[in-house]
Amino acid sequence: MLDADFFRRWMAVTSVTVDREAERLTALDSPIGDADHGSNLQRGFSAVRAALNKEPPATPGAVLTQSGRLLISTVGGASGPLYGTLLRRTGKALGDATEVSREQLAEALRTGVDAVRQLGGAAPGDKTMIDALVPAVEALGDSFTAARAAAEEGAVATTPLRARKGRASYLGERSIGHQDPGATSAALLIAGLVDVSEA
Ligand code: ADP
Ligand code: MG
Ligand code: MG
Repeated sequence: MLDADFFRRWMAVTSVTVDREAERLTALDSPIGDADHGSNLQRGFSAVRAALNKEPPATPGAVLTQSGRLLISTVGGASGPLYGTLLRRTGKALGDATEVSREQLAEALRTGVDAVRQLGGAAPGDKTMIDALVPAVEALGDSFTAARAAAEEGAVATTPLRARKGRASYLGERSIGHQDPGATSAALLIAGLVDVSEA
């Protein structure tokens, strides 16, 4: 079972990964965006990590709802409200249980991903974070490692796609041939789950 500490460590690991990968995420956001994806997420997840350290919430749901709210309030770019909604709605779906199973997390994340789809209007194949999140949530029913592999595959598979949502969509055909930064960071988020489950 996964407790509040597991979720706090997930957010902390994600913050460390985002710090480490910030340059790469921003580099991916250069040809098809405005070169800020790494710094956007760094700002957001640093705030999340600091807040969770200062006052650790008591339940998995509370960890995620608080993290989501912070992402929404600290990240200026499109990814802030989108990742914020993902975590907030996933947290809400977990309710106030003190421990949840991987299957329950998979179910809650599906609710969160659906909320992101509704907010941003992106479907699979539109070259966004959705392309990593949807297969990850599907695979999370099987195992953490399957979810990580599915998210990574989904992120890589955005390269030949033409962007239909977000800034990259302004480029039309010229968005083809570049991996989507948000799908890449979504794969990092999911990879963090595996790191914490194996720690
Ligand atoms: P901004 O584009 O405002 O600078 P970021 O660079 O932080 O924001 O995030 C860009 C990423 O956000 C994209 O790579 C994409 O994955 C994701 N994104 C943008 N718009 C949408 C949307 N409508 N639905 C889902 N994801 C989106
Ligand atoms: Mg950007
Ligand atoms: Mg921006």
